Amino acid sequence: MREILRVQKLGKNHGGYHGETIDIRAVLRDIETAARKFGWAQEIFHEQAGFPWLAFHRAPRLAPKAPRLYLSAGIHGDEPAGPLAALRLLQENRWPENAEIFLLPCQNPAGFTLNQRGNAAGLDLNRDYRQPQAAETRAHIAWLERQPPFDLYLCLHEDWESHGFYLYEQNPDDKPSLAETLVAAVKKVCPIDLSESIEGRAAQGGIVRPNISPPERPDWPEAFYLITRKARQGYTLEAPSDFPLATRVNALVAAVRAALDFAG
Ligand SMILES: [Zn+2]
Repeated sequence: MREILRVQKLGKNHGGYHGETIDIRAVLRDIETAARKFGWAQEIFHEQAGFPWLAFHRAPRLAPKAPRLYLSAGIHGDEPAGPLAALRLLQENRWPENAEIFLLPCQNPAGFTLNQRGNAAGLDLNRDYRQPQAAETRAHIAWLERQPPFDLYLCLHEDWESHGFYLYEQNPDDKPSLAETLVAAVKKVCPIDLSESIEGRAAQGGIVRPNISPPERPDWPEAFYLITRKARQGYTLEAPSDFPLATRVNALVAAVRAALDFAG
């Protein structure tokens, strides 16, 4: 624990993300290699500018009524911890036997080559889910429409301004919350943002429960599409990108593992 408390903000992020970048083509190759090694079904549901949009599926081993989990990462090209966390999870290959997993490891590869939030045209794909303009978003929604409903979604993100990890919860049916469990798991490897206001919304203990309903908002993030059409519970995980990249990957992996433990 003492070790963890020494993790400090780097102070690099002024006006945006200025930390480490990744070679997304190499990361995607490693992701495909790990997925193949461990028997995931792979689908390329979109191709653009020489990049594949990958979706991986892992069928449950045992239970016919296994919970379905959806994980996505890399929709913002200046948030490298998400695709790296997806890679780590695939390489470590510790998944619950009785869960069905859908994993999209990188939804904005071109953005990573530019280290920018938006796609190659500068469009924020994570505001494009109500009336989609980008080909990437339309392809993603078409893919989502072919999938069964999910019991839980996890969207992996980073926030260049935050003082630690935090998450957004969407839980309109008041199901048992995973929020505290996920934060407790992350706290062992990464500081938590304990601000009372994060991104203009009330927060408590690193948890934001936004009381905004999707119909009231014109520019839907992926999570709003998911909660409206595909799932009734989900979490947007925000690693603090002014901390070392390894800490942020650890944070996202810890949160996903805690959710998998809960589901499996
Ligand atoms: Zn993001």
